[in-house]
Formats: sequence, structure tokens, C-alpha cells
Amino acid sequence: MNKENDGILEKANYCLNCKVKPCSKKGCPLGNDIPQFISQVKEGNYLEAYKTLSKTTVLPGICGRICPHEKQCQGSCVRGIKQEPVQIGDIEAFVFDKAMEQKNSLYDIYKTEIERNKNNNNKKVAVIGGGPSGLTCAAFLAKNGINVTIYERYNFLGGLLVYGIPDFRLPKEKVKQTVDEILNLGIKVKYNMELGKNFKLDDIIDEYDAIFLGIGANKSTKMGVEGEDLPGVYGGNELLEYKSHPGYEGKTVAVIGGGNVAMDCARTIKRLGAKEVKIIYRRAREQMPAENKEIEDAKKEKIEFLFQNNIVKIIGDKKVEKLELIKTKLVEKETDPRPVPVNVEGSNYIIDVDYVIMALGSKPEDYVKDLNLNLNKWGNIEVNENYQTSNPKIFAAGDVAGQKRNSCLGS
Ligand code: SF4
Repeated sequence: MNKENDGILEKANYCLNCKVKPCSKKGCPLGNDIPQFISQVKEGNYLEAYKTLSKTTVLPGICGRICPHEKQCQGSCVRGIKQEPVQIGDIEAFVFDKAMEQKNSLYDIYKTEIERNKNNNNKKVAVIGGGPSGLTCAAFLAKNGINVTIYERYNFLGGLLVYGIPDFRLPKEKVKQTVDEILNLGIKVKYNMELGKNFKLDDIIDEYDAIFLGIGANKSTKMGVEGEDLPGVYGGNELLEYKSHPGYEGKTVAVIGGGNVAMDCARTIKRLGAKEVKIIYRRAREQMPAENKEIEDAKKEKIEFLFQNNIVKIIGDKKVEKLELIKTKLVEKETDPRPVPVNVEGSNYIIDVDYVIMALGSKPEDYVKDLNLNLNKWGNIEVNENYQTSNPKIFAAGDVAGQKRNSCLGS
């Protein structure tokens, strides 16, 4: 191992190679064989490590960088009980980077299976959406010898990996390398094809044996507070997706929410020149759903956190001018795994703001209601344990089916 890999070797050697594998079995939603690929890294067998990961994921260069490791694999690591956990994400990202550097391809790893399965299969599947779930589905279908066509609404693949996650968290070069690896499996793509706009499911359903919907859910949820429709209030998801930012220079911006989208928005806005960025969250720091690392990075970038604050209303004449907040106290309730924030009567106060960004969560876009599929009460497509929708020929996964964002990018 040369000098530049020393840090990774140290991280890999820190792994105890536990027989019970809690990092894999309990912590990884994909079941990546973590001790196995780490021991291959220890031995310098990077291609073998890439092969091990490729059994369960086609996104190691992505997952290694942006999966919520603290809550998943690293959160279950035995080392983490008394000390720091093994930095599994860093080692996974390294394996992908090394594979690209050494020109080891996913196609070569899957080739035998693709060839073998080709003779057994004459099936065609349409994958709608070229984001993480669509790309993963397409790759594993191709591995099984199935003829796959991705319908993508933009003229590029990657979905939220490209437009939803800023470059400082996920370099776009890694997305491009991942997409190239997957397309190299023989997958066809129809670009600029948006479901509900350029075509309907009925137009293509007879052409294919099955359809997979990986169309995401990138519409920002609203709070339902007074003043939410004033100019100057934006949805966090849309801001990141369309990059339609207003001028932030010298302005004060409030970002509402406590997840990674709130952190991404706040850090992007600060980089775009805002004078002050305040993240407003109704619970305490400990309950914040964002990754610890993202919160710490945001703090280092001088983003202010107002914990245990709730929004009462957004105030302004023709545009946002102020925000009325109220302090909360946290109350334990048997019915809720997290403490419930309760407004403290009379603790209202007002702050000056120029823009308010709603980063409270996301829901599927409106056209999903017209797909004639059963939806749950949040508007997500209902699926069974096989990801099958109420139409047996149509499957769905990822955000549109209500799977938590970033919880399992490869699902
Ligand atoms: Fe290594 Fe931690 Fe997994 Fe044990 S739990 S095998 S130490 S990564």
C-alpha cells in the first residue's frame, strides 16, 4: 500500500472483523458484507473489495459519501460502543475511487451473470426515473439479463444525486462515474421523457413486461402557517433542484427544518453570500434528524441554530419581512418515540428575516395522483413487500414509495 492509502489502511485495520457483523446485519439496509470488503482492503485486494460491494450495491461511490452512516453501519459498529466506530463510509468510498482509478468495471464483474441470464430471459422492463432507486433497479435487472430502458425527465441521469445534494457533499464527478458504470451494463435511456408530461403509463405499459417507478418525491411540504404564500418563502427541495435562488447578499435567511435538506439549503445559501442564516427547529439538537457531521459543518460555517423554536406566522406586507416564533418545551409521551415539542405560552418573539426556506420534508408531485395506483395518506405509492403496487405490472421504490431519503440509496 502506498503512502496516499495509509490513512485508509489505518481505518481498515481498526476493524475487528466481527463474526456477528452488526454493521452489516443490523446497520446496513442493503446488507453489504462490510467486514469482508474491509478485510480485502487490508490485504490490498481492491478489486475483490469492489466485487464484494457489487453483490449488494451499485452505488458505493455515492453511499460511501452520503449515506447516514452514523445512524446505520457506523451506528451499529462494535468499535463504537466505547470509542469511535470504524469509518466504514470512507473505506467504501475509497474502494469505488480505487476501482475507477484502476479501471475495474462493474460490467466485468457482472459479465458472466449477464451472459448466462441473457439466454434465459427475453423480458423488457421500463424504469421511470434515473435517480438512485431507478439506477439501482436498472443495474440489477440488467445483471439478470433483462432488457432495460430508463425514461428520464432531464437530459442527464442521477436525479437528486445531481440536483438535490450540493457539490460540497457529493462531487458530481462521482455521480458521473457511477452512472457510466451502470449504463455500461447495456441499459438504454430515453432522455427528456417526463411521466405525466411527455407520456403516460398507458402509452408504454403494453410494450414492457413490467414498469418500475423511481420518480422520487421532491415537492416541499408546507407548514400551513399564516404568511406561507408571501413572496420570499421558498420550498427547500425546489431551491436545490432548480437552483432558482434569489439574491442573498447581505440578507438574513431562516431555514425551517432539522434534516439534511435543511442543512444543505442553509450551507448553500451561506455560500451564496447571505449575511445570516438561521436554522429553526422545534425540537432540541439531540433529536435533529440531520447527520451529526452535517450539523457540525454547518456550525463551523457560522450558521446559527435556534433549537426548540416553532413558527407562529410569517409576517410581511408585499413580501416576507419578519417571523414570529414561539419557544417550545419537550414533553415525553408514550405514543411518540421522540419528545413532543409543546409551545410555551407567552414566549412569542419576532425576528427580522428577508427569506424563509421551508425544508420540513417532501412529498410526491401532483401527477402521482393521476397514475391510478393506490396511495397512502401521505400521497406515497403503496407497495407490498415485493415493491409491487396495486397494479401487479407496476413496481415502485425510493422516495415515491415513502422510503426515507438517504436511508437506503440502493434499495
Ligand atoms: Fe468492523 Fe465495526 Fe463491523 Fe465489527 S462492527 S466488523 S469492527 S465495522
